[in-house]
Amino acid sequence: MLKLWGYTSSAACKLCGVAQCTLHHLLVNCKFAREQGRYLWRHDSALQHIEQTLEDLIPHFNSRKPTVFAEVARRDFHANFVRAGEKQKRPTPTKAKRGLLEFANDWKLLVDYDHKKITFPPIIVASAQRPDVVLWSSRSRTVILLELTCPAEEGITAAQIRKESRYHELINEINETKTWKAHLLTVEVGARGLVASTTYRIFRVLGLTAPQAKSLVKALSEIVVRCSYAIYLAHGLTMRTTSLPDFLETQSQLPRFQISSPSVTTEFVACTTSLTPQICPRSNFQV
Ligand SMILES: [Zn+2]
Repeated sequence: MLKLWGYTSSAACKLCGVAQCTLHHLLVNCKFAREQGRYLWRHDSALQHIEQTLEDLIPHFNSRKPTVFAEVARRDFHANFVRAGEKQKRPTPTKAKRGLLEFANDWKLLVDYDHKKITFPPIIVASAQRPDVVLWSSRSRTVILLELTCPAEEGITAAQIRKESRYHELINEINETKTWKAHLLTVEVGARGLVASTTYRIFRVLGLTAPQAKSLVKALSEIVVRCSYAIYLAHGLTMRTTSLPDFLETQSQLPRFQISSPSVTTEFVACTTSLTPQICPRSNFQV
């Protein structure tokens, strides 16, 4: 598009050399950006925010008496039981939805990063697979696997299917133990900030309140958008951290619309061009 508008003389990707460089290519499909860890940095930045939310959420459930299925069923039965000759009472107000975390109070959390790889809990099954998030309760024998993807918006459904098929075998293996019950939750946040409609429901299934889930979805969208913006700005940059000062000096040569927020740009490019992928501190995402 920039070539059509006359901003650049070539449509080739400045990083990997592919002939037709599109926004889709820059944001999700550039070989150089992938190998340098720029997409991983975006993914891990969003994952870190999910981790912080879960770390805040888990103590809340671990400090309370777990809800027992039998008690829930008994209460529901008594609430709906109508004796002979009596009229049915008014329908009870909509019951609060119960999250997966409500049925135990010994939840443990593992989050997998490239620089901090996890081992799948051997107490469940021995597996070499490393989902992004593993949440498990030994008392309720429940394990929740959460997998985050930041694909192009048009590839959200494909990403969901890909992740489900990748963990299909592990889920079956866990469920075949007959002692553990596994749940796979896939979270997709589009590279341009569109959060999959299922993502909000997944956070509610976990036990987040509606405002918490809404806030988390909004934050994930913003984090991914800002990371993608940084990836876009750095699309002509092959240098690493050591050359960063030179890059910053040349910022003024970029089209004006690309540097509308210089302070944020500096932060993100600094992270993006590191030798190894870094997780930006959450404060970097504050406006
Ligand atoms: Zn490329």
